[in-house]
Amino acid sequence: MTAIGLDLGGTKIEAQIFDADWQVEAKRRVETPKDYAPLLTSITDLVAWADDTAGTKRPIGIGAAGLINPHTGKALTANICANGQTIHTDIARALGRDVTYINDSRALTLSEAVFGAGKAHATVMAVILGTGIGGGIAVDGKLRSGATHTGGEFGHTSLPADLVAQHGLPLVPCGCGAVGCVETYVSGPGMERLALALTGTTMTTHEIAAKGTPDAVRVWLVWLTLAADLLRNLILTTDPDVIVLAGGLSNIASITDDLARTTRDAQIGDFAIPPIVLAQGGDASGARGAAYAAWQNAND
Ligand SMILES: [Zn+2]
Repeated sequence: MTAIGLDLGGTKIEAQIFDADWQVEAKRRVETPKDYAPLLTSITDLVAWADDTAGTKRPIGIGAAGLINPHTGKALTANICANGQTIHTDIARALGRDVTYINDSRALTLSEAVFGAGKAHATVMAVILGTGIGGGIAVDGKLRSGATHTGGEFGHTSLPADLVAQHGLPLVPCGCGAVGCVETYVSGPGMERLALALTGTTMTTHEIAAKGTPDAVRVWLVWLTLAADLLRNLILTTDPDVIVLAGGLSNIASITDDLARTTRDAQIGDFAIPPIVLAQGGDASGARGAAYAAWQNAND
């Protein structure tokens, strides 16, 4: 028996049932409600559908945008209407059984570590470069959820002061409440903000990635140094065996080679860096990772 995974995002909730090989057997998707009570109902309805379809009550894993403070039980989330709510315990109460509830970036990390690009490696770090920046760390096929559940919030670490000064970049307030977070220039919207700050013109991430103009090349090279500084810090902190890239920006054609070269340049002395590879799981990663975490919890 495997488990059920729910991918809970800002626009849709998708439930997936996994077969014995952890491939998607059946799935159902609904729009994410804008109010909390209907949100809970949508989740319990999806679980009821999954129980029915699977024919048994399998463990439930939910991978969701945002964080749950393990000390208060309250959610911190900008994308779903559960901010300040004890969503994990509320879902468990509504279902009458426990569920595993983890951050969606952590869910992707576990999926890649067990089934995807990190499969052959012991310590797997995933870095998601999308609308925001997040990730996670898995060791020996298990997620390191940590004491505070904030480990993996890589986007809210600080930008490198030397590069900020060198390029005259303005310090920008971040959605998390801090100023000068990595996310403000290294996420997708951050890359566009970087283009505006460096060149005074508006460019999309597609235009920058195409490198069709000297300005686009310049923005791309500065973005690489900022992103490489993040990876360098993560390597110096955790020294993973592999770094798995995911998220919208990971679709840029040259990204793994360009980032590997720039990160090697930034690394201390002549020390190597771990391989930087692309995630393999695609859209199923979040739900599969959450389901697998639930399955691990049920079988511990
Ligand atoms: Zn921040």
